[in-house]
Amino acid sequence: VAAEALSVFDGTGVTSDGHEVPLLANVGGAKDAVKAAEAKAQGVGLLRTEFCFLGRDTEPTAEEQVEAYQGVFDAFPGKKVVVRTLDAGADKPLPFLTDTSEPNPALGVRGYRTDLTSPGVLERQLAAIADAASRSSADVWVMAPMISTAEEAADFAKLCSSAGLQTPGVMVEVPSAALMAEAILGEVAFASLGTNDLTQYTMAADRQLGSLAALNNSWQPAVLRMVRLTVEGSAAEGHAKPVGVCGEAAADPALAVVLVGLGVSTLSMTPRALAGVGAVLNSVTLEEAQRIAGIAVAAPTAAEAKARARAELPALE
Ligand code: PEP
Ligand code: MG
Repeated sequence: VAAEALSVFDGTGVTSDGHEVPLLANVGGAKDAVKAAEAKAQGVGLLRTEFCFLGRDTEPTAEEQVEAYQGVFDAFPGKKVVVRTLDAGADKPLPFLTDTSEPNPALGVRGYRTDLTSPGVLERQLAAIADAASRSSADVWVMAPMISTAEEAADFAKLCSSAGLQTPGVMVEVPSAALMAEAILGEVAFASLGTNDLTQYTMAADRQLGSLAALNNSWQPAVLRMVRLTVEGSAAEGHAKPVGVCGEAAADPALAVVLVGLGVSTLSMTPRALAGVGAVLNSVTLEEAQRIAGIAVAAPTAAEAKARARAELPALE
């Protein structure tokens, strides 16, 4: 991407014909949020709340939680901040929530599922998020990780409503959620595709194993089809709900164009990727992005999907 394009990046994600795609940041706490605001993120698309409390043996108190969340909200006054509830798992241990003796932790009690084994933690977290939100001007959305069914989405939405949180959503990072997107989005206000886990679970390839990197690639046409299914489900008659992406896929400029072409409405990424994604997005019209997405989805392999999409994007050279 031309250095010139990067230096003029003003934070706005928009195609050359004016289709806006807000570019948001993935953050793990207040320090990250400040850096994200400096990098001109238009908001936060993923606050990984478990990063605020990694390694803790005990549940953080209400005061600790409010302070951690408010620090992030304060970096984005008046802007959207999507808070993800605790996503404890094998890769992100929270000893007060996870059982480390599970034989198959990626398929175990993790993410939203910890609400079954540690009841009350989620309600207390939602109360802390609501409390912090009430002390700031940020537009706070909240979403649950590892949602697999419409019942889980409905239960989460109820908990959010009881806590006074008006914009409940879910992550789509399990194939069942992509397949059931229409029913799931009937229960909540939005979805955010977690392409890291969606790739892991679609390809049945552990994301922590470097030896499986070729499978663990979000350019896999099977993963792109999961994205397409989710967007199709979200557009069902009667409830058009926004679907964003907050996995690493959004940080790859060519893949970001494909995702926008598939109908994704926001992209959330590590702050250092914002300017590059913004520049490439600005080099295509929405119709071109849709055509490039069609090419990628129809490719037989990940390598072909990537090569064919990149060949349509001269701005990348
Ligand atoms: C994802 O799975 O794509 C995601 C954004 O969440 P995490 O990487 O924290 O699992
Ligand atoms: Mg995930």
